Amino acid sequence: MTAPIESFRDLDLPAPLLTALAEVGYETPSPIQAACIPHLLAGRDLLGEAQTGTGKTAAFALPALARLEIGLYRPQVLVLTPTRELAIQVAEAFQKYAHHLPGFHVLPVYGGQSMVVQLRQLKRGAHVIVGTPGRVMDHLERGSLVLDDLRTLVLDEADEMLRMGFIDDVEWILEHTPAERQTALFSATMPDAIRRVAHRHLREPQEVKIRAATATVAAIRQRYWQVRGVDKLDALTRILEVEDDFDAAIVFVRTKTATVELAERLEARGYAAAALNGDMTQGLREQVIERLKNGSLDIVVATDVAARGIDVPRISHVINYDIPYDTEAYVHRIGRTGRAGRQGTAILFVAPRETRMLKAIERATRQPIEAIALPTRETVAGRRVAQFRQQIADTLEKEDLAFFMDVINRIEEEECFKAHEIAAALAFLATRERPLQVEETGKGWDLATAAPTQAAKGERPPRENRDEILTRRRAFSEGLLTRYRIEVGRMHGVTPKEIVGAIANEGGIEGRYIGQIHLFDDYSTVELPKALPGELIGLLKRIRVRQRPLAIRELSASEADQLPERRRPPRPAGDRDMQGRGEAPRKWGGTKRPEHGNADKHEHRGPPKTYADKPGKRFRKD
Ligand code: ADP
Ligand code: MG
Repeated sequence: MTAPIESFRDLDLPAPLLTALAEVGYETPSPIQAACIPHLLAGRDLLGEAQTGTGKTAAFALPALARLEIGLYRPQVLVLTPTRELAIQVAEAFQKYAHHLPGFHVLPVYGGQSMVVQLRQLKRGAHVIVGTPGRVMDHLERGSLVLDDLRTLVLDEADEMLRMGFIDDVEWILEHTPAERQTALFSATMPDAIRRVAHRHLREPQEVKIRAATATVAAIRQRYWQVRGVDKLDALTRILEVEDDFDAAIVFVRTKTATVELAERLEARGYAAAALNGDMTQGLREQVIERLKNGSLDIVVATDVAARGIDVPRISHVINYDIPYDTEAYVHRIGRTGRAGRQGTAILFVAPRETRMLKAIERATRQPIEAIALPTRETVAGRRVAQFRQQIADTLEKEDLAFFMDVINRIEEEECFKAHEIAAALAFLATRERPLQVEETGKGWDLATAAPTQAAKGERPPRENRDEILTRRRAFSEGLLTRYRIEVGRMHGVTPKEIVGAIANEGGIEGRYIGQIHLFDDYSTVELPKALPGELIGLLKRIRVRQRPLAIRELSASEADQLPERRRPPRPAGDRDMQGRGEAPRKWGGTKRPEHGNADKHEHRGPPKTYADKPGKRFRKD
């Protein structure tokens, strides 16, 4: 056998390509490149099996470019990819490697892009076409893509094309291209259906197989967190917050709607996050990837399909927020990190009943996945304080603070505050949006479905009577609020703000579900959705405000009617029955919805500015 290939120079590639490779910083060919390039340069067909992230693009792009006749301005290479993202990325890779081939042109064609534009571009011509099967077929049928001069056809991620149902289109294309072409098929796995295609359409293919656990997978640190006790979103933000090497993350969820929801919730917590899913227009999807690349986004919440093949080197973390359906999907997912020779981290959330899948993944990747504990609130707070200290030190070092020193000196003298008191007030103000302290949130209740938010996986709420559930669902969907009694009142020194805070933060109830609060001497009433689940009531009962357990219970209609009149300044008589609202339930739909924004209308809710301005920020801190 020959010596291992150490350098691209050993591969007989033309000088302009070597120059480009040096510029992009590739030092040595990856195993799949070293194994494939000689065969492909020699014009042979090839069947390549290698996991994501092993460098397959260059493995076919470099020899294809080497064999190109630059003077012939017609499609000589066609690459089929399962998704538009991938088509674009492969086209970008060609462009990069061909940087020193003057006149070179590559064209991505995919569905969702304007036909008019594509037709014009095709007319102008290109050496390499990279496209999704459907759109390529379209153009072949219209005659807008002519492959008479095709020399090389590449099927990239063939297993994925199979999985996405493109295999018939792919075969159709194979049948409608010149028979004397060279064909290379790449796939992360080699299911029978792919083998059959290869058998039918490839001529004496060279088989190259790179074992799964190669360098790139090894460069990914795989960990999992057993989902329990804490809402997955809380877990995610805590984990990300204490990760040392966090730069950017892709978070995988199972559904398109989940991409949007989770991205929004992350945004609400101050992360630069966006969704990436198949429902988005092509333009939007490209924008998202571009923003992730250039650092204006740090987290992309994606479905498997939308994230296929994304190659953004700064992705330091892949979070499997929802466990993938199979081990292949897992391998594809984690291949989004650890790119371009960097270290990557993959974190998997595993609900108790998903343990089997975890084991399957370990077997498939031939690597143990390490369990991690959720960072405690203290750890997170410690990290925040450390960052804050660093910020202060940096600011003192880098900024000219003379003006501010002067302001503070004056405050110190004129107001008689001590410098550290002023500093504490400023620290509070500076960290208001992102408090240094981490508040415990409850489980989080999705009141729309009346279920704990993590009930979806693993932890089921206790069985309930079907009728109860139906009644509750109906009540929630109609937006019925009713009055509950809690055993803490004015004489205990409680404020409405504290009650809202406790119910929202510790009960995990969103502020918008909390209606009016009325304080009485030794108890209070609070409006909450009717028929709260028993489990949640149990939780709320135990919450303490001013050292007193709330011992919450729903008031019956007659009890509500008998509530004493609240003390209030005298009013014209006609106004009275508006206020004596003992009767429940009340609608919260439409404009009457008790948002905190109009809390000032409810006089017993305390001064509005304390908690009325930004309920989202205030109640969902962590
Ligand atoms: P695959 O198609 O197998 O998933 P890619 O072709 O997308 O893998 O390559 C994965 C990453 O590795 C890309 O960021 C690519 O630029 C980088 N890469 C490829 N070949 C090399 C190499 N020889 N040296 C360094 N980085 C490389
Ligand atoms: Mg690839």
